[in-house]
Amino acid sequence: MRHQIQPRSGTAFTLDRGQRLTVIDPEGEQVADLLAFRRDDIDEVISSGRTLDYASRIFLTTGDKIYSNRSNVLMEIVADTVGRHDFLLTPCSADTFRIIYGDTEPHRGCFGNLAQALAPYGIGPDRIPVAFNVFMNVAVDGTSGALEVRPPLSRAGDHVTFEAREDLIIGLTACSALQSNNYAFKPIQYEIA
Ligand SMILES: [Zn+2]
Repeated sequence: MRHQIQPRSGTAFTLDRGQRLTVIDPEGEQVADLLAFRRDDIDEVISSGRTLDYASRIFLTTGDKIYSNRSNVLMEIVADTVGRHDFLLTPCSADTFRIIYGDTEPHRGCFGNLAQALAPYGIGPDRIPVAFNVFMNVAVDGTSGALEVRPPLSRAGDHVTFEAREDLIIGLTACSALQSNNYAFKPIQYEIA
């Protein structure tokens, strides 16, 4: 069964160990922020720092593992038709829109959408770490370290599949930031198998 996340919104659901979550970009050039918490202990959550450290790479794809703050593997990427995603930047938020875009009445962004969706699981906003930003295309200058948010490389129908290595609570959005999505807000779809 295919589920749809409407533009600029988010959801949360459980994923059992061994199940596979496929995140689909139905129209192209749309980012989805992904979070995974260990279901039996929400103090354990995916960790950008540990994952990038152990991978010794910034760009992750098929075969890469996503580690927790306790260095356990929570998910593994088992399929990826794009090969360019971000695991450096925090979910977009009201602060993002205020600081980067100068909005005076900012949207709550992926951060606010994730906080609302995860609240029923007892997960408060201060527990939200750097998300795995599916399809987000952040170019890095190898010398200066300068970051540039570019349009996603994903085209309609592109997808990434994650296999759960523990019982998880997942947060997932259709990202709300203009730059990240080439200035058009589109839905995200997902399937669990
Ligand atoms: Zn976002």
